[in-house]
Amino acid sequence: MGKLMDMDNTYVAHTYGRFPIEIKSGIGSLLTDENGKEYIDMGSGIGVTAFGIGDDKWKDAVIEQLGKVQHTSNLYYTDPCAILAKMLCERTGMKKIFFGNSGAEANECAIKAARKYASMKKGAEYFTIITLKNSFHGRTLTTLAATGQEHYHELYQPLTPGFVHVQPGDIEEFKKTAIESKAAGVLIEVIQGEGGVNVMDRDYVKGIEEFCKKNDIVFMVDEVQTGNGRTGKFYGYMNYDVNPDVVTTAKGIGGGLPIGLCMLGEKVKDVFEPGDHGSTFGGNPVCCAGAISIVERIDDDFLDSVNKKGQYIKDELKKAAGVEDVVGLGLMIGIKTSKPASEVVKKCMENGVLCLTAKDKVRLLPALNIPQELLAKAVEIIKEACAN
Ligand SMILES: *Cc1c(COP(=O)(O)O)cnc(C)c1O
Repeated sequence: MGKLMDMDNTYVAHTYGRFPIEIKSGIGSLLTDENGKEYIDMGSGIGVTAFGIGDDKWKDAVIEQLGKVQHTSNLYYTDPCAILAKMLCERTGMKKIFFGNSGAEANECAIKAARKYASMKKGAEYFTIITLKNSFHGRTLTTLAATGQEHYHELYQPLTPGFVHVQPGDIEEFKKTAIESKAAGVLIEVIQGEGGVNVMDRDYVKGIEEFCKKNDIVFMVDEVQTGNGRTGKFYGYMNYDVNPDVVTTAKGIGGGLPIGLCMLGEKVKDVFEPGDHGSTFGGNPVCCAGAISIVERIDDDFLDSVNKKGQYIKDELKKAAGVEDVVGLGLMIGIKTSKPASEVVKKCMENGVLCLTAKDKVRLLPALNIPQELLAKAVEIIKEACAN
């Protein structure tokens, strides 16, 4: 074992099962390890480096802001946070944005918004948040409670109360549970990422929206993974022709710096007052400056290119040996392989391609601007790994 791996294993908390690779540098969709071996990056740091490693426009924006001021606290006004909020509201129709630093924090804000809205509007007994089985919403005690996977819960009881998980796709169960539990809100991923790249049914998502509108329940979409161009639309919910009351995001919007945010729609835009919620680093000017450089490039032409690349991956892999199914939207793709997903990922790694898994699938979340030649090369290596 190398010195770095030794040191990490000794001093870094053992919360991750790392692969035995030391990444030293990278450029675009290529990463280089300590021996100079290159890998095509089909995971982009779990959907974070949306424009690849060391992207020039993002780097320029970050460095420019670093030269001005790196942090001020939320006691004062700074440009990048307000500009980013305006851009996002204008593109999505959402009304106000709360800034935090991670996906979990973005979801915490959404849950607080729904609870405050419902308790003020309907009464304190309306606190329940409905989420879906197999979902993933974060690692804080509250977002773990929201996460519909028992195995994450076991060691950390008691979790925050007031969460109920329903079976994705079963609209009748959702409606019945929403009424019986006096639901404040519902939080869904339109494509479950960690849960196995499970694409929600159009009718189901529309059904949830409709029921929420009718019953004044806060309809929230967790776009931490699906947001910011990943699914071939600006936000994943836009594939479904719905208008959520709350949208959360993180991961790709920061291009690699920590940022998470919660967008509040018309229904809940004024739910928070000064002192209700906050975050020391939230709206950090450097992170927001980087995020602006990401968001401003996700236009319709760019989204077309994301969809084309996603379709290319699907077309190539669907006919490949050892592939049972290919699912997902845009550049969020799950591959059901005949072999265990972990074996395919290992084989790919040996051959210079880094992939992810999600439950029983191989998951691909490449940088949205991955060059076609690199993508083609990666797909060939993935095919080979699935076949042999
Ligand atoms: C990654 C993820 C989260 C958690 O984000 P963190 O930044 O790790 O807190 C929440 N929801 C979804 C859908 C995710 O993919």
